[in-house]
Amino acid sequence: MHDAMISLLDIILTLALLASLGGLFWCLRRPLSRPAPQLLQPTDSLDPAEQPLFFAVAAAVDVGMIVVDQHRQLRFVSQAAMQMLGVHEPILYLGLITILRDHQADALVGDVLTDGEPREMTMRPISSGRTLRLNASALNGAGALLIIRDVTQLSMLERSRRDLVANVSHELRTPLASLKLLVETVQSDPPPDVAHRMLEQMAQEIDSVTQLVDELHDLAQIESGRVSLKLAPLPIGPVIERALERIRPQADRKGLTLGAEIPHIEQAVLMDPNRVGQVLLNLLHNAVKFTAEGGNVQIRVRLIGEDAGQVGPWLLVSVCDSGVGIPASDLPRIFERFYKVDRARTRHAGGTGLGLAIAKHLIEGHGGRLWAESVEGRGSTFSFTLPVA
Ligand code: ADP
Repeated sequence: MHDAMISLLDIILTLALLASLGGLFWCLRRPLSRPAPQLLQPTDSLDPAEQPLFFAVAAAVDVGMIVVDQHRQLRFVSQAAMQMLGVHEPILYLGLITILRDHQADALVGDVLTDGEPREMTMRPISSGRTLRLNASALNGAGALLIIRDVTQLSMLERSRRDLVANVSHELRTPLASLKLLVETVQSDPPPDVAHRMLEQMAQEIDSVTQLVDELHDLAQIESGRVSLKLAPLPIGPVIERALERIRPQADRKGLTLGAEIPHIEQAVLMDPNRVGQVLLNLLHNAVKFTAEGGNVQIRVRLIGEDAGQVGPWLLVSVCDSGVGIPASDLPRIFERFYKVDRARTRHAGGTGLGLAIAKHLIEGHGGRLWAESVEGRGSTFSFTLPVA
């Protein structure tokens, strides 16, 4: 009987090999006073004299540990494993599949038990929505040890890195392709007026690449917390007026009515005026860009006592337009990096899809909120709150 027991040495060696567990050797030196998990006891799989050390290891490491016997019946499940798999009930002696709920993973452990070769795979249990890395290795003919690591955050980071690279190259490809074409045309010695027009278009394409690089740099600085807001109690009026002045030429060119209702022009808010000006200009720029000729763009300012349950007072600033609007299905996503409602339409209109992501970070950095309401075909309202000083 004793021969059939899993030697503690086997388990520890396997652990060290499999999971590069940072704190394992450290925890082995700790006193064995940790209480053993009450619900799940390893029974005949482990020498009783060795159980306390095994429990101490399982409780100290931040990976989940599962021991199954030759028939894939559960003999030990650590608390960490239960949490990762979203299990709340005692489950000893049930089949492994009842907690993994993944046939591929269950079959993989079956293969490990058959040929003794260690294996690993990634699982995404629907119940917990997490990404788990599973390593399984045989325990000298007495079953198998499964180590589970929660790699959700890592895989999300990896995905966002891949998305960023894909998005940046996509955004660069279009202006670069158009630049190449323009250069080729100029090289073919076209009449001077055509050459002049091509050069102007080249300057525009270079501007859009420069804008992309500048906004990416801005976003990287903000997201890494390297942008410090210079907050001071200042009146909102001058910031709004300056933004309106800057957007007016564009609005006039499209015959748009540009107006502002600012009853609280002297109201001081706690803000970095350059950054709030940047947000306003971005919202006004979008409003003008997505509103057809003859439409109107308005800024409205109100004082409110509470914002989303947060007691104020707050200053609520809204930029309203009578433009194309945003479909309800896109509305929740427009603050994501690179998100554009209709790529074909926005390519023509210009823009990187980064402006709103930056604006949201900046307003949240002030302790406020930025959100959008829109009815497709009728117009959009972008609003943000700032704390009254
Ligand atoms: P962009 O540089 O493309 O304008 P933004 O992050 O500022 O990037 O906006 C993201 C997308 O949200 C835009 O491409 C557009 O599809 C949509 N959008 C933003 N503002 C408006 C608006 N006022 N009206 C309609 N659509 C808008």
